Amino acid sequence: MSSWSCTRGVPHIVVAAEFVQRNLTADNLTVDNAKNALIFYLVFTRALKAYRHVRARGIVSVVQDAYRWVMMRVMNLIISSPWVRPQVEAEMAKAKEGVQRSLVPHGAIRRLTLPAAGESLAQILAEMDEMDSAMPEHVDYREGKLSGAVYHGGEDMEEIIVAAFKRYCVSNPLHPDAFPAIRTMEAEIVSMCLHMYNNPTGAGATTSGGTESILMAVKTHREWASATKGITEPEMIVPESAHAAFDKASAYFKIKLHTIPVDLVTRQVDLKRVRRAINPNTIMLVGSAINFPDGCQDDIVALGKLAQRYNIGLHVDCCLGSFIMPFLEKAGFSSAPFDFRIPGVTSISCDTHKYGFAPKGSSVVMYRDAELRRFQYYVNPVWLGGVYASPGLAGSRPGSLIAGTWAAMHYMGEAGYIASCRAIVGAARHIAAAITAEIPELRILGSPPASVVAFSAVEGSGVNVLVVGDMMSKKGWHLNALQNPPGLHIACTRLTVAVKDDFVRDLKEAVREAKESPDGKGNLVALYGLGTSSAIGPTMVGTLINAFLDALYQA
Ligand SMILES: *Cc1c(COP(=O)(O)O)cnc(C)c1O
Repeated sequence: MSSWSCTRGVPHIVVAAEFVQRNLTADNLTVDNAKNALIFYLVFTRALKAYRHVRARGIVSVVQDAYRWVMMRVMNLIISSPWVRPQVEAEMAKAKEGVQRSLVPHGAIRRLTLPAAGESLAQILAEMDEMDSAMPEHVDYREGKLSGAVYHGGEDMEEIIVAAFKRYCVSNPLHPDAFPAIRTMEAEIVSMCLHMYNNPTGAGATTSGGTESILMAVKTHREWASATKGITEPEMIVPESAHAAFDKASAYFKIKLHTIPVDLVTRQVDLKRVRRAINPNTIMLVGSAINFPDGCQDDIVALGKLAQRYNIGLHVDCCLGSFIMPFLEKAGFSSAPFDFRIPGVTSISCDTHKYGFAPKGSSVVMYRDAELRRFQYYVNPVWLGGVYASPGLAGSRPGSLIAGTWAAMHYMGEAGYIASCRAIVGAARHIAAAITAEIPELRILGSPPASVVAFSAVEGSGVNVLVVGDMMSKKGWHLNALQNPPGLHIACTRLTVAVKDDFVRDLKEAVREAKESPDGKGNLVALYGLGTSSAIGPTMVGTLINAFLDALYQA
């Protein structure tokens, strides 16, 4: 146990334990004493929790949180009152209808039950043709105007992946005895990633995507902390710029989350605030290389020092950095350290299905050593269906995806990834430089080292950056909207490289248009304006987003 926790956390517990013991000796074990001890214990533990919470959040944030909470309650009361409620419900119904209309095609043939008899391949393909043409107008990712989303490995990559799929179509790695080649490929995928991230003696596992890699890393650290330190009320400390998958892990696995602000200039997590949030229940810290919102990289070396000092985990999220970060230097760009060479880093997630160009549904989670990976496993020796064990979340898994990933990595090779890193990061730097030099109304957020460029409006420029986003949508670009501060980002892919100059030209025009009509009524303005402009915003957006998720399953 670290010296910090001895001086700050433990004495209180010792005091509490002593108090309870003193009052519960055999000859004075009265109901009253027991009651007092229990009350003392409850008050004490609550107070300790509150103290740690305030210490991590800071007084100002706690007061702001409380104010927001009260305002939300008040607004909820107002909108559920009989005078306002019908109006709000009518507006929400209209908005929900809009969501449905944009997703679910009208007039298309609907097939809601199994066809009575099986169909031929020709029939199936004909029906797919028909579905494609009946869909509402949508983006064509091939034009390169989509931020991220399709991490295209080039025209010929499709052929490679399909060939691998076909060959291992029915394989299932849950049964390595039946599919030994798939087991070997899976182990080799992990090994290739471990070498890329400079931990050849480490361990890892494949997962279905970045989110699962992160869920697994968090679960692993939770079990590790429980087994080695007896932590039963785990907490983790995560930069506000980290991926939402950490919030998801906190919600799924009941881990208290401390969200730490980033520095407004560097966009790196505030290390002082991280340190203040560490307490004896902390299981892990998180850093991104790079993060999703603005593509910046946290100070992993400093986070590693903290993790070592307090003997806690440090997960580095390289889901997006994937096959870009490890090749930055070899592609001729500067790079700050981020991988297992940094002491204190205990796990890293790397998405093969992003810049690794593997088929979607593929990611790798890596650990410093095999001992830590053990805590990821699920083992049930007494199940009625036999002894059951699986390394991760899934039971049965598609071996074809593993073969597709292995094939993509072999098709690219190190030289291929270095070349794609050079092209993609080159495009991102080109865009960032052009914005800085030629668009004074916008400013780049932080200094992003890799493939993402994020920007906000300069204060006093008269530009609403969300209006810029809506204007860009009209020009066919699909950028990601950011909150706090409002901004936009583009995650460059190989498809962006060819259109980087079109992007800069269109962005200049969009800024001009946004200046002319400063209060636009586009989608981004509607959604993100609502989300941050009032206390009730998040609740309303939440309701709408639930409607969106419902609409996904509307046949
Ligand atoms: C994409 C991404 C993830 C994980 O996302 P999946 O969609 O589940 O693959 C995690 N972290 C960052 C920074 C990402 O960009």
